[in-house]
Amino acid sequence: MADWSDFIQQIKRQNDIVDVIGGYLELRRSGANFMARCPFHGEKTPSFNVNRNLQIFKCFGCGESGDVIKFVEKYESCTFVEACEILAKRAGIPMPENSSNREDKELKERKKKRETYLAICRDAARFYYRAYYSEVGSVARSYVAKRGFDEATVKRFGIGYSPDVRSLPQFLRSKGYDMADCVKCGVLQANPKGEIDALAGRLIIPIFNMQSQVIAFGGRGLDDYTISRGKYKNTAETPLFTKKDNLFAVNIAKEQKQQTALRYLVVVEGYMDVIAMYQAGFKGAVASMGTSLTEQQAKWLSRLSDTVYICYDGDAAGQKATVRGMDILDRAGLEVRVMTVPEKLDPDEYIKKYGAEAFEQLIEQAMPLPDYKLQLLERTFPIDSPDPAKRNNALPKYVKGALTMLKSLDDVAQARYITAVSVKTGYSEDYFRRKLSEGDTDVTEVAQTQLSPDEKAKYFVASCLLHGEPYATLDEKPICNTAFLSDLYDYLLQCSAQGQKPAADMLYTVCPNASAEQYAQILDVDMSKARRPVNERYFGECKRLIHAEKLRFKRDRLTQKIKENPSDSSLLTELAELSKKINDLR
Ligand SMILES: [Zn+2]
Repeated sequence: MADWSDFIQQIKRQNDIVDVIGGYLELRRSGANFMARCPFHGEKTPSFNVNRNLQIFKCFGCGESGDVIKFVEKYESCTFVEACEILAKRAGIPMPENSSNREDKELKERKKKRETYLAICRDAARFYYRAYYSEVGSVARSYVAKRGFDEATVKRFGIGYSPDVRSLPQFLRSKGYDMADCVKCGVLQANPKGEIDALAGRLIIPIFNMQSQVIAFGGRGLDDYTISRGKYKNTAETPLFTKKDNLFAVNIAKEQKQQTALRYLVVVEGYMDVIAMYQAGFKGAVASMGTSLTEQQAKWLSRLSDTVYICYDGDAAGQKATVRGMDILDRAGLEVRVMTVPEKLDPDEYIKKYGAEAFEQLIEQAMPLPDYKLQLLERTFPIDSPDPAKRNNALPKYVKGALTMLKSLDDVAQARYITAVSVKTGYSEDYFRRKLSEGDTDVTEVAQTQLSPDEKAKYFVASCLLHGEPYATLDEKPICNTAFLSDLYDYLLQCSAQGQKPAADMLYTVCPNASAEQYAQILDVDMSKARRPVNERYFGECKRLIHAEKLRFKRDRLTQKIKENPSDSSLLTELAELSKKINDLR
């Protein structure tokens, strides 16, 4: 361990922070310090400060700060150890040996092999790129033109073409590579008649890693024969490349982050979607090359941004494996939002049809993960179905699903979504809170046909108002756990604000989707003159119940707030006053 800390000191001594950062950013001297535009947040005027004496950097815009290693770690989106490696290499310092000699020898051999594989991939990419611009490449060029990709995009992605099965092996042999190595890294395929290029006849899309090294290739068939053997084909699993753990275009997203600070990443399914988005100006797009995201991919993503938009086509987005993948991102601490592209189009098609601005709007409308899960639930269990039998059948199943979803949330989000699902289902918030605290997600009870006193009060007050009873006035909206009551009270309050009498027949207009029972609760009440004194007394009682419930609700919110800010004494005063009011009402 002593070795390692000496090593770090040596790295810092031999990598002057101004020189290192000056290699990445344009530094301008300002008194004793150097200034630059901060690479970690978007800004026009420089507030990023480098101090040579203290060997530290600090941004007065976003607060990012640290030493030379921290800078490289952040800028290269790499780990601490990788940052040390980069700086050690820069200063010509050997990495400390922290393992036995035998292991070390093995490690060295593995590293050497890896470098050979990377060199083969790089040379193959160059070969494909040249072939794309050669005479035989015209078929690929016209395909690319048809898709509307311009020259800059082709260059940026290093798009190429594989003319036939023999040319690439020939080229690699002429460079002196061992054919066995070329097969091992997936660039060539073993064949009884000698090694062949398995991507022959395809448009080639190189796949880069975070360090901008080519590690694999994707190929898009260009003629009927190759398409019949798979429209898309890519390198098999190799020591360099595991499809499920890599992300296409992660290198481009990283460079984008270095230039302007990425606000978010968009994860799509295919290469072509990424390329189309790049061309349309969305440079933080990566492709997952499969819809079930992995922990390794979550790691790559979290190095680049805190917010990830998932944009899969309609069928894939709802799949169990996809939702599981989104949960992995969520657990990795990423803010996950789900985009829905209308008309079952993929991003590429959508941008072509409606343009970049329309796509930007889809990004803005993306749903937080919990909302998206609730939407999926509702699609499976139609709790808003006009058919009461279907609705009653779906409701307990929806509630069970919602409880499972709520269980995965933190306290703050849970409180918010409990209100949402309570309004949606008509089950009280207390019901959800009780179930969650008991850790019980089994839902056997049917929806509450028996109303609680609080609920009854809300129906009765609404009923009196709607019947135009002379004593009935309204000054506040109760806590409404159903859309029916909420819509009805919005209407009643609006009447009261405008000094108008509510009209009973408006009930069907204001609440068009309510059930027969709900209408009956409002309309089938005896409002005859003989009943008036009794009703009037009960009305007063109901208003008090409604008010008390609101105060209790307020108190719960306040208690929560106090838990979060225990030092704020004004909150405690407020709580004492509220508690007194609640007691006085009893
Ligand atoms: Zn900054």
